[in-house]
Amino acid sequence: MSGSEELKSSIGVIGAGIQGICISLNLIKKGFKVTLIDREELGHQSASYGNAGHFSPYASVPINRPDIILDIPSMLFKTTGPLALKWNYVPRMIPWFLKFIKNCSKKNMLHTAKYMHQILDLALPAYDELFQDIDVSDLIDNKGIMYFWTDKDLKSRELEIKTRNDLGVKQQLLTPHEIHDLEPHINKIYHGGVLYPNAKHARNPKKILLKLFELFISKGGKFEKQNVKSINFTSDNKPIIKTDLNSYNFDKAVIACGAFSKKLTDQTNENIPLDTERGYHVHFKGYDHLLSRPVIFLNQGFGITPMEQGLRVVGTVEFGGLDNPASKNRILNLVNNAKYLFPDLKEHEDEWLGFRPTLPDFLPVLGPSKNHKNLFYSFGHHHLGWTLGAISGKIISGMIAGENTNLDLSAYTSQRFS
Ligand SMILES: Cc1cc2nc3c(=O)[nH]c(=O)nc-3n(C[C@H](O)[C@H](O)[C@H](O)COP(=O)(O)OP(=O)(O)OC[C@H]3O[C@@H](n4cnc5c(N)ncnc54)[C@H](O)[C@@H]3O)c2cc1C
Repeated sequence: MSGSEELKSSIGVIGAGIQGICISLNLIKKGFKVTLIDREELGHQSASYGNAGHFSPYASVPINRPDIILDIPSMLFKTTGPLALKWNYVPRMIPWFLKFIKNCSKKNMLHTAKYMHQILDLALPAYDELFQDIDVSDLIDNKGIMYFWTDKDLKSRELEIKTRNDLGVKQQLLTPHEIHDLEPHINKIYHGGVLYPNAKHARNPKKILLKLFELFISKGGKFEKQNVKSINFTSDNKPIIKTDLNSYNFDKAVIACGAFSKKLTDQTNENIPLDTERGYHVHFKGYDHLLSRPVIFLNQGFGITPMEQGLRVVGTVEFGGLDNPASKNRILNLVNNAKYLFPDLKEHEDEWLGFRPTLPDFLPVLGPSKNHKNLFYSFGHHHLGWTLGAISGKIISGMIAGENTNLDLSAYTSQRFS
């Protein structure tokens, strides 16, 4: 197909989270006809709505690390810790876990860090390109992100800080005194910390999603609120997307359904080991003046972000699949942790459960499907999908347009699991 014919192609993008929206916007800017399909109203309760709002270009050190294997059992059995299991889901999670453990070697950890760094490094410039056309100045703060810890946790911090130094990530180690100067309202329980000065945060992720979506619509994009049930292919391998109500024929399609993507990729004869790390948030309304920037208390594995909604307290990695109900004790844990740092907090609101889409090697899947050249994937961005929206959109739209890139994209192929 020649370049100009290619640009007339019609593309169906399934999933209107941050991935699907950024892909659609990049595609329409290149001249494609784009239909974005989601079963929900925009920003309705998805991971892209409820996340901590961090734009974290520094966060290339993955969770699959040699030291974490030893920590997992004790974290799981501690009810106040950052990790939790829904026991009824354990049998289904075992294959994922075995693959995860294999990826915790130092070699595999460094492989993930290298390829996360490659895209994280481009993440903020890619957003800057999208934000040229919309005003997000009151929705994004540029004050960095601060981590702190008690001295018990220092060993794993050292590994992280060293790996980030080796990758050239800008970071500033903090004494307790400096932490207090930056965030004077936090209870002084900490012994050390680090500031990532180049990080930013969203004061309302949903409003940013909506602005990007409105830009897509204003450029001629179409939106269909429908639940995609299946993907089939014509004899010349073009996708047919069937929803509850309709059937759509496209030249090419993209699956960007976050943690729900596996329900569709399983239909393409590809067994991609995508699962979910469930996470929670609550809001303490009217308290956002207590923080200037997002903070993360590493020992308890949770964070607090000052947002328009108040203080958003976010955390927990819970292995429990997509269908189990929310765990009240995880919410309580977040609330208690927040009150430990800010004893004056009173009532919380808006209990939310969301689904991080995670592969066992903590790299996303970006690229064409193994069996269908006109079907593309963009999912599995785990804890960093908000940060990586714009760059994934740029990469996937470039692939669909047949553009050359100087990035090494081989590490993100779904075929690594074949
Ligand atoms: C608690 C928590 C905190 C987080 N904090 C951060 C952070 O601070 N920074 C960061 O970078 N990342 C963060 N993340 C991760 C980030 O939010 C996710 O990686 C990212 O939002 C995933 O985006 P997505 O577009 O792939 O998926 P989603 O946002 O989940 O969107 C998928 C969309 O697909 C739609 N869909 C699914 N199935 C179908 C179907 N069959 N038919 C039609 N539509 C369908 C859904 O309705 C949904 O709208 C956090 C995640 C959680 C849970």
